[in-house]
Amino acid sequence: MQQNNKEPLYADYAATTPVSEHVAAAMRPYLTEHYGNPSSLHSYGRKAQHAIDESRAQIADILHCDHREIIFTATATESINTFFYSAVLEAQQRGIQNPHIITTTIEHSAVLEACRHTEQHHSAIVHYISPNSEGIIDPQHIQDALTADTILVSIGYANNEIGTVQPMSRITRVLKNHPAFIHTDATQAIGYCNVQENIVSLHALTFSAHKIYGPKGIGLLYVKNGTPFHPLIVGGKQEYSHRAGTENVAAIVGFAKALAETENIKQQEYKRQKHLQETLITDLLKNPAITLNGSRTHRLPNNIHISIDRIKNDVALPYLDDRGICVAAGSACTSNTPEPSHVLLALGHTKQQAQNGIRITIGRNTTQKDIQTLAQTIHEMTHNL
Ligand code: PLP
Repeated sequence: MQQNNKEPLYADYAATTPVSEHVAAAMRPYLTEHYGNPSSLHSYGRKAQHAIDESRAQIADILHCDHREIIFTATATESINTFFYSAVLEAQQRGIQNPHIITTTIEHSAVLEACRHTEQHHSAIVHYISPNSEGIIDPQHIQDALTADTILVSIGYANNEIGTVQPMSRITRVLKNHPAFIHTDATQAIGYCNVQENIVSLHALTFSAHKIYGPKGIGLLYVKNGTPFHPLIVGGKQEYSHRAGTENVAAIVGFAKALAETENIKQQEYKRQKHLQETLITDLLKNPAITLNGSRTHRLPNNIHISIDRIKNDVALPYLDDRGICVAAGSACTSNTPEPSHVLLALGHTKQQAQNGIRITIGRNTTQKDIQTLAQTIHEMTHNL
C-alpha cells in the first residue's frame, strides 16, 4: 500500500505531462487580462491576435518552416483526422476512386481509426506495414507497397507504446520520387527527436502540446506550402481559413513556450533520461520473468516497455497503483476485459503475451531515486503475484 501519504510516483509521461511553471505563467495573462477574441478589431482583439502571430512565428522558427505552414487545432488527433480528410478529398477530386494509403500496424489509434474511416466512408484501400520483432519499420517495405494510386503515406515518428523511433530520413528518401503525401505523427517524438531535420521532406507533421509540458487541448498541424488542403472544420476564417473556430489564445501561447523550453533543454534531458532508462532496463532485465519490448537502441530515452511472465497488466497496474506507482498498460484497457496490445501483437507476441505489457515512461521530474523505487517495486511484484 501507498506509504506515508506520499505523492504517487508518476511514470506515465507518454500519456501526458504536467504543465511547466514557465508555460503556466506565460498563459495566465491570456486567460484573465488579454482575453479578447483575436478576430475582434479593437485593441483587445489585436492584442490576442498579436500573441497568436508571435507564437506561430516562434514555433515556425523552431520547426524550420514558414509560419503559414502551421495550423493550430485542438489535439494531435484532430490534426491527423484533418490531414487524412484533406488527402482523401483531394484524391477524390482528382478522380481516384480507391485512394491507396500506406501506414503501419503499430500506429496510435488516431491514425488507425482515421484509416478505418477512409476505408469505410471513402472507399480507400489501406496497406498496413508490419514492423520487425524490434518494432522498426523497413523503408523498403514502404517502397514495395507504393502503387500509382497511393495518395498518402503516414508513418509514426516514434511509437507511443514501445517508444521505438522509425528511420524517418530513410523513409522519406524512398518516397522522394512518388507524388503521395507524406505525413508523420510526431506526437511522442517531438520532445526528444530532431524532427526539424526531416520537415522539408514531409507534407504534414502533427503533434500536441500536452506531451511536452504544455496545456491539453491544443494541437498542431504542419502542412507544407503548396500542398493542396481541404479543411475539416469550416466556419470562420481563422487559421488562414484552414481551421475554423475562435482560437485558444492562452493555449497557443503556452504551446509556443512549451516547445521553446523543450528545445532549450532537449539535449540535456535526452542524456539524463537515457541514463535513467538504461539504469532501469539493466536492473529489470536481471529478473528472468521480465523482457524488454522494442529495440533497445532505436528508442525514445523515456520509454521502458516490459512484459512480465504470467502477470497480466490488468493485475499489475492496480498492484502498482496501490503502492503509489502510476504506469500504463500502453493499450486500451477496460476494467474486466483487457485488450491485447495491437503493438505487441504486431511484434509477434501471442494474444496472451500481449496482455502482459507495462509501459513505464519517465520525464523531467523523474529522479534516480524514482528509478530505484520502480525497479524494487516491480521486482517485488514478480515475487508476490
Ligand atoms: N499520436 C500519438 C503517437 C500519441 O501518443 C497520442 C496521444 O497519446 C496521439 C497521437 C493523440 O494525441 P492527442 O491527445 O493530442 O489527441
